[in-house]
Amino acid sequence: MTSRDIPLAEAGGLLTIDLSALAANYQELARRVAPAACAAVVKGDAYGIGLATAATTLWQAGARSFFVALLSEGRALRDLLPDAEIFVLNGLFPGTETAYQDHDLRPVLGSAPEIERWQHFCERIGEARPAALHVDTGMNRLGLTPAEAVHVAEGRDELGFPLSLLMSHLACADEPDHPLNARQLEDFRAIAALFPGVRASLSNSAGALGDPAYHFDLVRPGIAVYGGRPRADVAPLRPVVRLELRIARIRHVHEGETVGYGGAHTAIRPSRVAILSAGYADGIPRLAGASDLCPGAEAVVAGHRCPLIGRISMDLLAVDITDIAEDAVRPGDFATLLGDGLTLDNLARHSRTIDYEILTSLGRRYHRRSA
Ligand SMILES: *Cc1c(COP(=O)(O)O)cnc(C)c1O
Repeated sequence: MTSRDIPLAEAGGLLTIDLSALAANYQELARRVAPAACAAVVKGDAYGIGLATAATTLWQAGARSFFVALLSEGRALRDLLPDAEIFVLNGLFPGTETAYQDHDLRPVLGSAPEIERWQHFCERIGEARPAALHVDTGMNRLGLTPAEAVHVAEGRDELGFPLSLLMSHLACADEPDHPLNARQLEDFRAIAALFPGVRASLSNSAGALGDPAYHFDLVRPGIAVYGGRPRADVAPLRPVVRLELRIARIRHVHEGETVGYGGAHTAIRPSRVAILSAGYADGIPRLAGASDLCPGAEAVVAGHRCPLIGRISMDLLAVDITDIAEDAVRPGDFATLLGDGLTLDNLARHSRTIDYEILTSLGRRYHRRSA
């Protein structure tokens, strides 16, 4: 059973994906980076919102180039978008060459052995299939060293397949003043100059929302498309995800009693507590919880912001609703964790994590719907 099939009446939470906001965010980014082209990064099940809904919406909004992390994601995307240009970021794993051909996917090659294997494969099938080249300029994760890239440029005539993209990845784009940005830009410029006629791509969302010098021919935003906040100095685009959690139970707690595991919350007054039917097994970070010493995240109940109290359990969490009129809320109602003014950015900060991790952890037990 996929979460789409979980009936609302049974679900502990309701996850609503705003497809018009998703399309608007993509188009806003495309407008801001023009004349550079704007791809869409849809790895990780489109950052947790669902590949099928995201990909078709983004295609309709005008996206033509897509990035995924893994071959399996590329294959699923190809089934949805027969005419898209699809790049697979994590490299060419041995033995997967034929699958790239079968599904018309472009591997992002980032090491000499990967390049060699693609060369041999193209030779064997008698077809020069395009691939992208990844050059590392400071991330030290994937990609050729600049020296290796120079070597490839020098031997480009004998490469045996066309390069459809040259890319690198920024390590600190969310900190515009970090000196590594300028260094990566300079190195990437120098390398791109060695590959005339090949499209160049350096920027993720944070880079796309900043200095146009970083845009080159194609930008690769992910998180900004999904309403996350890639950098503190730029407001996020429209929220795409709304998360509401069901109130399973409302109970009275006497002054001095504790709530939840570890007795981490002590009631300092006679309290009313709403127990919501979702927890860390649904992707709500345990660190979003609270203790007597440290406040946690908030939920909106009957239009009012209320604090989460105590530790978050696997399937439940507690909210203090003492200040809400007794007849305003009943078991079965929903409390909002994302939406009604509660942002992804805010929940992430309370949980000492980032928007990306909140989105990609969104649970499989919610009733999901698109709006
Ligand atoms: C994930 C990823 C992106 C998108 O990054 P965002 O910060 O979500 O915009 C772009 N390029 C590469 C190489 C990535 O791995």
